Order: sequence, then C-alpha cells, then structure tokens
Amino acid sequence: MQYIMSLDLGTTGNRAIIFDRAGQIVGLAYKELTQYYPKPGWVEHDAMEIWEAIRWAMGAAIQDAGITAQDVAAIGLTVQRETCLLWDKTTGQPLHNAIVWQDRRTAGLCHQLEAYRSEIYERSGLFLDAYFSATKLMWLLDQVGDVNLDNVLGGTIDSWAIWQLTGGKVHATDHSNASRTMLMNLKEQDWDPELLKIFNLPQQILPEIKPSQGIFGQLDPDLLGVEIPIAATFGDQQSALFAHGCDQPGLLKCTYGTGCFLVSHMGGEIVRSQNHLLSTVAWTTAQAGGDYQLGYALEGSMFTAGACIQWLRDGLNIIDTAADSEPLAQQVEDNGGVYFVPALSGLGAPHWDMSARGAFLGLTRGASKAHMVRAVLEAIANQAREVVQAVNEDSGTPIKELKVDGGACQNDFLMQYQADVLGIPVERPAILDATAQGAAFAAGLAVGYWDSYTDLVKGRKIDRVFEPSARATQAQDSFATWQKAVERAKHWVE
Ligand code: ADP
Repeated sequence: MQYIMSLDLGTTGNRAIIFDRAGQIVGLAYKELTQYYPKPGWVEHDAMEIWEAIRWAMGAAIQDAGITAQDVAAIGLTVQRETCLLWDKTTGQPLHNAIVWQDRRTAGLCHQLEAYRSEIYERSGLFLDAYFSATKLMWLLDQVGDVNLDNVLGGTIDSWAIWQLTGGKVHATDHSNASRTMLMNLKEQDWDPELLKIFNLPQQILPEIKPSQGIFGQLDPDLLGVEIPIAATFGDQQSALFAHGCDQPGLLKCTYGTGCFLVSHMGGEIVRSQNHLLSTVAWTTAQAGGDYQLGYALEGSMFTAGACIQWLRDGLNIIDTAADSEPLAQQVEDNGGVYFVPALSGLGAPHWDMSARGAFLGLTRGASKAHMVRAVLEAIANQAREVVQAVNEDSGTPIKELKVDGGACQNDFLMQYQADVLGIPVERPAILDATAQGAAFAAGLAVGYWDSYTDLVKGRKIDRVFEPSARATQAQDSFATWQKAVERAKHWVE
C-alpha cells in the first residue's frame, strides 16, 4: 500500500497527515507553534522551530500510520501565507524571526508608499497593507543591515520548507503563495520589476515561482532515508479551496483558522472586486512541456478568527481550551448587549483598516465571562457575514450555502450562529483539515496516485449541515449593532 503525506504548516501549529487511497486520514502528528509578540501589533515565529516541527511531524505521522517512509508516494505542502523570512544560504540559519502575516509593524511603511496604492493593486491584485510580505521583507532587509546579498535567500514559509526539505537544493515557491507577497504580477504570474522597485527589493533573494501542482524537488534522503517527490505546494487558503472541489467560477469556501478566509474561484480571467475583495491566484497546475493551467480567485481575508479564541485562552486566561468557548457561550440566552470587534491585528476585508484595534462595547455590570466569550464567537460569524455580503454584491448571485472548514469549525455554537446570521445553511465536512487534504489531493494527483479529482471531492463526507434556526432574525438584528461597534474601533492608532 502507498500513501500521501501532507505537511500543513499553519499559523497556530504544524502538522503532518498521512492519507490513504480512499482519502482517509491514517496517521497524524501535530505540534502547536510558539507565537512571539515582542511589541503591540508585532507577531513573529521562529523559522527553526517550524523546521524542527516539520522534521519531527514527518517521522511521527509515519509512525502513527504504522507505515514506513518507503510507502509514501508523494508529499503535498501547504503553508500559512504572507509570513516571510530571510536566511543565510551557507549556514541555513534564519537572519531574524519570521514576520507573521498578522504583524502590523510595517503599517507606517505602507503609509509612506500610499502614492503607489493604485499601481500596486493594478499589478498585484492586492491592497497596500502591512498584511502582505512586501513591506515585511523590506523591514527585514533593513534590519539585517549590511549583508552580502549573494548569501541571502528570502521568501514565504513554503520556500523555507522546500529549501530545507530538499537539503538546500531548491529555492522555489508556487503561484498561490507568490501572489500573496505583493511582488508578483497577477497577469504575468512572475516577479514584477516595477513592484520590486517600489518596495526596493532585490529579485536575487526571491525564489523561483513554479506551478502549485507539479514537482518541486525530492525530499533529501538524509531526512527519512528515501527520496520522496514534493509534488504540490499551495497557500493554505487555496489548498482548502482545492479540497472543497471549488475549481469553477462561483464555487467558494470559508476557512475558520487563526484568521477567517472566504475564497471564491473565478476561472481563468482576473476578476476585480467592487467591494474590497482581493484578486489572487487560486492555483496553477503543471502541464506537459513546461506550461501550466491557471485559475484566479477573489478573497475576503479576515485577520482574526480562531486567534481571538486563542487570546481568550492565552492572553486573558478566561478559558482553558478553545473548545471551552462553546459551552460558555451557550450558558447565556444572548450576548447581553456585549459586542466584540475582532481587530486584534487591524481589520482586513472589507474595511482594510490597519489602524483599527480590538474592542468590547456595551459592557455593563451585568456582563459576564459567558457574555464576553459569546460576543467573541458572534463577532467571528458577523465578520464572515460582511464578506459574504461583499461576495454577493460582486457576483450578483447570492450564495445559497456556505462550505466551511478549519479548526474553529469544531465549535457548534459558532457554526449555528453563522447559519443564523447569514440565513443560509452551513455545510461542515467530516475532515476539518481541508487545508492538509487539498495539498494531499493535489500531490497525489500530480504523481498519478489518484486519477480523478472529481471522485476525490465526491468521496468527502459531510459531518453536519447547520440550517438557519428560529433565532436567525435575532442574530441578523444584532448584526446591525455589531457593525456600529466596528465603526467605533476604526482609525484607532493613527
Ligand atoms: P491555522 O491553520 O490558522 O493554524 P487551524 O485550522 O489549525 O488554524 O485552527 C486553529 C484555530 O482554531 C486556533 O486559533 C484555535 O483557537 C481555534 N479553535 C480550535 N478549536 C476551537 C473551538 N472548539 N472553538 C473555537 N475556536 C477553536
């Protein structure tokens, strides 16, 4: 028997998952990742910790599945996007902690580049914002000072992982990750000389851009004793889109992980949103003769979703585990007038306000821990509703059902509230690790382990469909008050 290994390098943690031919999970290893918050608004990861976690997880997942490395037909890689780093080509050591996508330290740099906003959007499909990699790489280069650029490599987490996994042989990224750096030309699908000039970045430190679904290189045999092809690399959101079978215009999904990301496939042409959604690459598939097939997407990125649950757990210590948020929220009849604005890293779609900050509003002496936790969960669903509205307005055809995945989807209260506030069913799959599943599907298809994408997608089981309940009207009324709260939290740190 042969298997596919997916490496899912997320913001919260890193996992390796082994899938069998039926698309079922037969082995898994996961390690939570340390989050560093050196200053307000700053978020960093130790790239060496990520690499150590990958090395450990590959072996542990193989052991968990009761197989050997020889049984792994291919590796699919999927990563948190935009997070980036520089490393030393000779020593393999990072030159600084990786700057995480949620990090706001370069908001000031973005303001200085305001004159280029429309040109940046035109070329990259993205809104000038500290979220993307470009200004983070500028900051990192400035920080490391006088270095010999010939000895420096840079990129997003996928390029770091590929370089390490191939024993330093391959420095590459894929179109879906590159499209989030703000340095790739969306039409040409290559590094854009004008964007590189605007951000004052040398192309020589950047990886080669390759098709998402295709061979990136072979696993260094020193790692597991065998060579294994790395046959797919996707940004995490694009990988989940692939897993859900969203490969045609109008098919979309919403992933509730650290952030919440609603992504809609748009076909082979770039579509520009009228409602503050990003244009980006869905994925590319290598074809014979060096060519590739390309799909674009529209995306609503919300920076803080599961991250606010993590903050309740680790920052405020008012819950012991993320799962505790569900019974607590259900203890109370309603939010007791308490509203939460999840702007812990500013606001993404559809507001794009780097200077917004998180807020609780409507507190009274009657407000309890349960009300506050409930307000946080409601806020996650409310922001997704704002983005669904934007997608509906862009497409002209309202979404009839929302396909979801990601760690925070385990929360039944959140899913029910989402169905209520949207007034449409929410469909939760049995495997919530759609991100890892997408990379596995793509890698397995690339090496001929599977031959039908349609069958793979059809074979996915649905765990539960949340229908709008009798409380839908109440949730939708409450949405208007929540929007008022959002306005109060905007333009906070100018
Ligand atoms: P990522 O890929 O961004 O690392 P995951 O999909 O692994 O994220 O999901 C992890 C996130 O889900 C964490 O932020 C965590 O707080 C949140 N989470 C996990 N379980 C629950 C739960 N039962 N209720 C709400 N949030 C949860």
